[in-house]
Amino acid sequence: MICLECKKELGYLDHKNAMESAGVELCTKHHERIKQLITKHDTPLEAIQLYYALKEAGINSMLEWWDGKKSIDIAISRVKLNIEIDSAYDKLTEHEAINNLEEAMHSFKNGFTTIRIPHIVVRYYLNETVNNIIGIMEGLKANIKVIN
Ligand SMILES: [Zn+2]
Repeated sequence: MICLECKKELGYLDHKNAMESAGVELCTKHHERIKQLITKHDTPLEAIQLYYALKEAGINSMLEWWDGKKSIDIAISRVKLNIEIDSAYDKLTEHEAINNLEEAMHSFKNGFTTIRIPHIVVRYYLNETVNNIIGIMEGLKANIKVIN
């Protein structure tokens, strides 16, 4: 058991505390940082799991990236990809749905692609989610080359 952020060896308690509240293995210091992030932005645990899974796959992303208007759960700036984790997908109201569409429209206008991933997909299909994001990144990279 090591901290996913700094690779420090974790004791049993560190491991237990971090797994319980953040869902990932983190040392006390990095667990504290994630807890602050969750308190400040109400970050879904699945966003944190996905962030570290992407990191393991060699993809640098940013958690809670401020795009000038709002905080994006995960942003991969290299290919201008924004990822939002929907934590209550089944309970989406029409108001939230139209807001999501409008936000997606604004990001497209700014050259960003927004994908929304239901939290249960991250929880149950983490590897597949990462593989699909890698595929999306390849597609975006190819498109960026065509435009430039
Ligand atoms: Zn650490």
